[in-house]
Amino acid sequence: MLKKTLENKNIHVSTFNSHLLTEPWEIKNNSGDFFKVFTPYWKKAYPYFIEKNYQFDEIKNLYALDHSEVISDFNFLPPKKWYQKFEKYWKPGELGALKKIDKYIVSRIDNYRVNRDRPDIDETSRISPHLKFGEISPRIIVGKINKIKKHNPSILHYLSEIGWREFAYTLLYFTEDLKSIPINKKFENFQWKKNRNHFNNWKKGKTGLPIIDAAMLQLYEQGWMHNRLRMIVGSFLVKNLRIHWNEGEKYFQNCLLDYDEASNPAGWQWVAGCGADASPYFRIFNPILQSEKFDPEAKFILTFLPQLKILEKPKFIFQPWLKEKILKNLERKNEYQSPIVRLEVSRNEALEAFQAMNQKKT
Ligand SMILES: Cc1cc2nc3c(=O)[nH]c(=O)nc-3n(C[C@H](O)[C@H](O)[C@H](O)COP(=O)(O)OP(=O)(O)OC[C@H]3O[C@@H](n4cnc5c(N)ncnc54)[C@H](O)[C@@H]3O)c2cc1C
Repeated sequence: MLKKTLENKNIHVSTFNSHLLTEPWEIKNNSGDFFKVFTPYWKKAYPYFIEKNYQFDEIKNLYALDHSEVISDFNFLPPKKWYQKFEKYWKPGELGALKKIDKYIVSRIDNYRVNRDRPDIDETSRISPHLKFGEISPRIIVGKINKIKKHNPSILHYLSEIGWREFAYTLLYFTEDLKSIPINKKFENFQWKKNRNHFNNWKKGKTGLPIIDAAMLQLYEQGWMHNRLRMIVGSFLVKNLRIHWNEGEKYFQNCLLDYDEASNPAGWQWVAGCGADASPYFRIFNPILQSEKFDPEAKFILTFLPQLKILEKPKFIFQPWLKEKILKNLERKNEYQSPIVRLEVSRNEALEAFQAMNQKKT
């Protein structure tokens, strides 16, 4: 629309893509359709991008347009300065983003494959908010990696995650309404539950399941959540609580600094099992096993729930209900709570609902 308006005034407009490696419509399968599975998509998209060999020119002259607005007049920021806490975690701007990615590529990217799933180690690049606000282009990131690194399993894995972001834009572009409509239409018949209390418990980090609660508190505190945790809290919401993935998607939109109109709904559809190349619905993450695997010493959990230190051993920090007396004491002081659902029961109910959906004729 902006382009059309300017062209109607006889102003010549040139646009250049820097938000993505390729335009979504450039990558098609042999039948001329868009890819619904990631691996063959990326096998085609990445070499296509490399072959283009895009070059970047320094902008030498930038002619400013006359304008009289002062940015503070727009009142973009709310009067209550709740956002100031983010200054501890993020340095917005292009320079900060470039520095961050340079440092990451030199010193940490080679361990990406082994460390990427560990919220306690926190070794992903945390570049997503900078990508979201256009402070850095994925083309710059890929260019920098390829300039100084040989491809090893970690590098290939990191590049493929940039690829998932691209794939999400393909889905956004080609599907009906990624934010609201499940790609797998069968899910329109799924028996979701409406339970305001459970949803509020989930949002506030008060489910009684420490890994879920710590993750939701990370989101609230930092405006960001580790990818492994997005999958765990997502699975818990749509499977154990059976609350519609749309609700989780909207809540993440409110809270994430890296909220992305493609990656967020694609991520939620993936978690719910209704997206393209999605995790099957019957794969229900067990929060306790996930804690044991990805936060083995409960370091991440204790960062956000220090009151659970009293439980001492990771085994009990993952499952406070095993120490009934201590949990009762924590509940009395309003410091922690019993689980809002029983994992095994809610898991079985979710599987039954999934079966019922599959038996319905579409
Ligand atoms: C339910 C759910 C919601 C999500 N919502 C968003 C969102 O709103 N915005 C967003 O940028 N990402 C989203 N993701 C993807 C992923 O969690 C984040 O991109 C990642 O955690 C950002 O941290 P990072 O920059 O340290 O990632 P790194 O692991 O360092 O990866 C580098 C970059 O690759 C891209 N990337 C990595 N993983 C994914 C992925 N699974 N899907 C798409 N791109 C990926 C991101 O651009 C990321 O910045 C979501 C995932 C899930 C499961």
